[in-house]
Amino acid sequence: MTLAERDAKLIWHPYTQMQTAGLPVGIVRGEGACVYDEDGKEYIDAVSSWWVNLYGHAHPHIAKRISEQLTKLEHVIFAGFTHEPAVELAERLLPLLPHNQAKVFYSDNGSTAVEVAIKMCLQYWLNQGKARTKILAFNNAYHGDTFGAMAVSGRSAFTAAFDQLLFEVEFIDLPHQKNISQLKEQISNLKDELACFIYEPLVQGSAGMIMYQPEWLNELLQHCAAEGILTIADEVFTGFGRTGKPFASDYMPQKADIMCFSKGLTGGTMALGVTTCTQQIYEAFLSEDKMKTLFHGHSFTANPIACTAALASLDLFTSDETPANIKRIADQHHQFRQKIEGHAKIRSVRQTGTIIAMEWETGNETSYLSPLRDRLYKYFLNAGIILRPLGNIIYILPPYCITNEQLSYIYSKITDALNEI
Ligand SMILES: *Cc1c(COP(=O)(O)O)cnc(C)c1O
Repeated sequence: MTLAERDAKLIWHPYTQMQTAGLPVGIVRGEGACVYDEDGKEYIDAVSSWWVNLYGHAHPHIAKRISEQLTKLEHVIFAGFTHEPAVELAERLLPLLPHNQAKVFYSDNGSTAVEVAIKMCLQYWLNQGKARTKILAFNNAYHGDTFGAMAVSGRSAFTAAFDQLLFEVEFIDLPHQKNISQLKEQISNLKDELACFIYEPLVQGSAGMIMYQPEWLNELLQHCAAEGILTIADEVFTGFGRTGKPFASDYMPQKADIMCFSKGLTGGTMALGVTTCTQQIYEAFLSEDKMKTLFHGHSFTANPIACTAALASLDLFTSDETPANIKRIADQHHQFRQKIEGHAKIRSVRQTGTIIAMEWETGNETSYLSPLRDRLYKYFLNAGIILRPLGNIIYILPPYCITNEQLSYIYSKITDALNEI
């Protein structure tokens, strides 16, 4: 029996309609930007394995540091105890972030990093005896799949089965020149109730790589700061170079109070979540009163292996090679964009740094459940490329080690698909 057949007997996959999905591809090995299936077929991982991989698969430097850590300390309880990888990661991560970020809270994935951020904000107000319990978020936002993270995400096919149970959130449109004053007014009208504003800076990933301008986000953030509303930058996806700068928040002079990280944090090797916050937020939890404690933690909080993967990943992130690769990919995308813009089957092309997205003309509304999606997905798999269109939106989000030849191949197959499908 193949891996795929053994899998099909026992396993239920994420985001997968198991009745119609067909067998999964059994992967046995990864190297650089590629993974290899059980028949030896090569696939270029053009989505960085769900947006997590930054430096390529089975990276030797990350592998080496992890294997050294494994024989030193695999895990220890993180309440009352600490360890070198967690301390060193906080020491090295904070200086890379906007300077108002002062404390690091560990968890183990992007959704939990968001849950922690939300709890920090809600309890920040409660601890000061103030009743601010509403959260502001963008329409079409995606912040994760646990209940709190779902609640602050746009209502969509992902949340439909649970909508009635999600707490109420104030949703606003993405800011642009024409609506910015109206958005600010909307916020001001609610300011006494609003605990915080959570946003994906510059790119709404899951919504279909929807992009918006730093100028208007900055104005919104300034307005929130003026109205005393805490801000949460969910950089789970945009962090670590994806948008062309180290963090998407680096495009805005106005900084968030809280930041969330996961995905690329460990170079895509291990599950780890980080929520950072300002000294002011941290201090709102200091008290003789135990009820003011942040009662949140996970069994694998600050797992030493995961923290070590993040440290090894930071070694690579801060090398000269990474910014050069990011720029190279952004330039390649830019050239491709100029080539296909105006193609009859392309509704629009957008790009931020290493992320490029193309909206396919379907004659219908854009939808995650678009049938075109499955045809495109299979077409690219056959061609040895992993691309997972979000409905009729194709995006390329490669690991930074991808070569220009591999990129050219992906571009040429997208062009073929445009002409053939
Ligand atoms: C993926 C994602 C999350 C959730 O992270 P998980 O590790 O999948 O739970 C949260 N926010 C954003 C912006 C994401 O893209």
